[in-house]
Amino acid sequence: MSSDRQIDPEDTSELLQRIYVLESELEAIRLQTNVLLDIARALNASLDPKVIASNIISAIASLISIDQASVCLYNEKTQDFQVIGVFDSQTITPQIPPDLDLSFLLQVLDKGVTYYCPPENRRQDWEWICCLPLQNAQHKTGTINIHAIRQTEITSEQMRFLETVAGHATSALENALLYAIVQRESITDGLTGVYNHRYFQKRLREYISLCQRHKRSVTFGLLMIDVDNFKQFNDKYGHQFGDTVLQTIVRELLNNLREEDLIARYGGEEFVILIPEATEKIVLFISEKIRHVVEKTKVLHQATGIDVSVTISIGVTLWRSSDSPASLISRADHALYEAKTTGRNQSVFK
Ligand code: GH3
Ligand code: MG
Ligand code: MG
Repeated sequence: MSSDRQIDPEDTSELLQRIYVLESELEAIRLQTNVLLDIARALNASLDPKVIASNIISAIASLISIDQASVCLYNEKTQDFQVIGVFDSQTITPQIPPDLDLSFLLQVLDKGVTYYCPPENRRQDWEWICCLPLQNAQHKTGTINIHAIRQTEITSEQMRFLETVAGHATSALENALLYAIVQRESITDGLTGVYNHRYFQKRLREYISLCQRHKRSVTFGLLMIDVDNFKQFNDKYGHQFGDTVLQTIVRELLNNLREEDLIARYGGEEFVILIPEATEKIVLFISEKIRHVVEKTKVLHQATGIDVSVTISIGVTLWRSSDSPASLISRADHALYEAKTTGRNQSVFK
């Protein structure tokens, strides 16, 4: 019977040795599983690409001894990479190490396969480098780039771990980028790309409460712009060309406003501009400047070969301490009405 069998002490020590190895492997797997769960949780907890990038790097650094790492987003339009997270603060370029050619990262993304340059092929200043593509069937999102000096190589388990992290990272970054698009679309106008009416109202309330809190008597200006005789214009040249003209006007307005001025489409062919820290002189100066710019802007009407232009009328006012959003808009509206009824293509201050 087996119970009578003598156990060889050498077998026992071999078995114990084996158990010890298996236990440490199990412990490593347990650790990786926990880290992966933490990563999945951490990556899905944020919609900020920079926070996600920082979580990706912390996750990798918790299991692999790395010296440099970067997480980059890929811009398909410009074919460029933007670094959104780094392991050491010296890293400023997407390439890790920095002397690598950028086209190298593009190749990694194009092939969609992890690039690993092991120690035997190393150059003098690194042990290994590894670039993981972040991509799914629809998009090339970016890359994770890692560079190590101290750790001798990546084991096959570590590589599996890295690729799993890259998978989670891709979904998390995709979600964050989609969220940013939805956020932007919810506050902008589809035709012209400037802020929409709802966002303007929100910012107007903020401008007012900011001025109310100020000790000094600071105020801001409001310009209400309306394209002159635009109905006739559409009737003559077509609605689609009218759309192109609206887009051109907005481009010109943006080119001639300061960074701090906020422009929004109020509705139809009407736009509003908020001008911070303004005086009557400043708002009238800006108003007249943009009125001249629009008047001089020509748009080619392909079908007739004619260069056409439109004019705008502008109601101009300043916020007063007794004003609500409605009373301020109403005064700008009255000023605009006066500009229309007394000849158009002019600015009226009230
Ligand atoms: P006024 O000088 O008094 O402002 O005359 P108007 O013709 O511009 O004013 P009205 O309010 O009678 O007509 C506004 C026109 O603006 C009518 C509409 O077809 C046009 N419009 C509004 N939104 C758009 C748009 O998104 N695209 C185009 N092409 N036209 C638009
Ligand atoms: Mg109008
Ligand atoms: Mg009009």
